[in-house]
Amino acid sequence: MISVSQFVSALRSTGLWTSDPRLRDCMRHLRQSMRESAGTVMVDQKLFRKCVGANILLLTQAFRRKLIIPDFEVFASNMDQLYYSTQRQEGGHVADYIPQLAKFSPNLWGVSLCTVDGQRHSAGDTKVPFCLQSCVKPLEYAIAVHEIGTEHVHRYVGKEPSGLKFNQLSLNDEDKPHNPMVNAGAIVISSLLKVRGFLGVPVILKATVCICIQSFQSEKETGDRNFAIGYYLKEKKCFPENADMIAALDFYFQLCSIEVTCESGSVMAATLANGGICPITGERVLSAEAVRNTLSLMHSCGMYDFSGQFAFHVGLPAKSGVSGAVLLVVPNVMGIMCWSPPLDRVGNSVRGIHFCQNKSVVNLMFAAYSGDVSALRRFALSAVDMEEKDYDSRTGLHVASAEGEPTYFGGIILFSHITCTSPYCSHCNSSVSALV
Ligand code: GLU
Repeated sequence: MISVSQFVSALRSTGLWTSDPRLRDCMRHLRQSMRESAGTVMVDQKLFRKCVGANILLLTQAFRRKLIIPDFEVFASNMDQLYYSTQRQEGGHVADYIPQLAKFSPNLWGVSLCTVDGQRHSAGDTKVPFCLQSCVKPLEYAIAVHEIGTEHVHRYVGKEPSGLKFNQLSLNDEDKPHNPMVNAGAIVISSLLKVRGFLGVPVILKATVCICIQSFQSEKETGDRNFAIGYYLKEKKCFPENADMIAALDFYFQLCSIEVTCESGSVMAATLANGGICPITGERVLSAEAVRNTLSLMHSCGMYDFSGQFAFHVGLPAKSGVSGAVLLVVPNVMGIMCWSPPLDRVGNSVRGIHFCQNKSVVNLMFAAYSGDVSALRRFALSAVDMEEKDYDSRTGLHVASAEGEPTYFGGIILFSHITCTSPYCSHCNSSVSALV
C-alpha cells in the first residue's frame, strides 16, 4: 500500500507534473478514488493497476530513471542555483515605447524548462503573462516552412545574418530581407501566411494562445518603423502576388502580441528541441525540416547584434524579444523560456543572457560538491576561473570542504590557493588547515 501523496511526490521527483496531459487518465482515477473515500487514500495493488494502466509506459520509464534527465531533482536544484545567481544581476532598462511593456517591474525574473520527455521545472515568475514579441519570429518561420515548404519561403527571404539592427530598412543583394529573424523577414513571412489563408491569429503550435489586444493596438500606433519597412518591401516587390501589405503588418503585430508565460513558452521551445513533436501531448506540430531550418537560423541570427557572440559562447539556438524573453533550445534535450524585462544595449534581457552564459559556475560547484577531481583538473586546465562564486559568494573551495565528503579532499587541494569570501563560511579555512 502507498498513499496518494507518496505516489504524487515520487512522480514529481521524476520531473513529470500531475497536470501533464499524458497522465490525465491516471490522475482522474486517483482523484476519483480520493473523492470516494473522502480522506487520505491508501492505494493498493488493484487501484494502482487501474490508475497507471493507461500510462504504464511513461510511468515505467520515469520511475526507472530512463527519461532524458535521469536524476531530475539534482538537475532541478542546479537550475535553481543558476536562477538565484542570476537574480542578483542588476542593470538594463525595461522597454518603454509602449505602456504594456513599460508597466513591468525590473525585478521580474522567471525560468521554466521542459525536456523532450516532458519533465518540467520552473523558478520565479513563471506564471506571469508577457508578449512573445520577437520570440514569435522563429515560431512563425517554422509554421511557414511546415505549411509552405523551405523552397517557397526562401524564394522571398534569405538565410544570412544581416549584421544590421533588427528593424533596419535593408535588403540583401537579391532584394530580399536578410533572414526571418529580422522585422523585414518576419513581415514578408506574415504576408506568405496570410496569402495562404491564415486569418488573424493562427493556432501557433496547436496550443490555445491569447493575444493581448492592448499591445497589438499600441504596436500598431507606434509602429512607424514597421510601416516604413512595409512600404520599402512593397516598393522592392518583396511580397507575393495578391498580398495586402497593411494586412501583413497587422498580422505581424498580432503575432508579436501573443501572450505566453515562461511555463507555456518552455513547451514551445521543447517542441523545437524535440524535432517538432510536442513533448507533453505527443502531437507532431512541425515537420523535422521546419525545425532544423529554424534552429539553424536561431543559432546564427536569433540574438540581435549579439548573435555571433552568443553562438560563440553558448552555442545553442536562441531567440530573444523586446519583452525580455529568451527562448532557448538545447536540441534533443530541452526547451527553456527565460523572462526578465530589463534589456541591455542591444536589446537582450540582461538576466536572460547571464543565465544562458552561466553554466561554468554550476559545473564547477557540482564537481567540487561531488569530489570529481578529474573534472576539476579539466576545468583548471581549460582556463575556467576556479575562483568563480555562486549566488552566495561561495567558491568551489567552500563547497568542496563544507559539503564534500572527507575523501574528497583532493578537490580542496586544487582550491587551496583560494580564499573563500562567502559571508556564510565558517568551514573552508578550518578544513584546509586541518588538511595541511
Ligand atoms: N514589436 C517589435 C517590433 O516589431 C518587436 C521588437 C522585438 O521584440 O524585437 O519592433
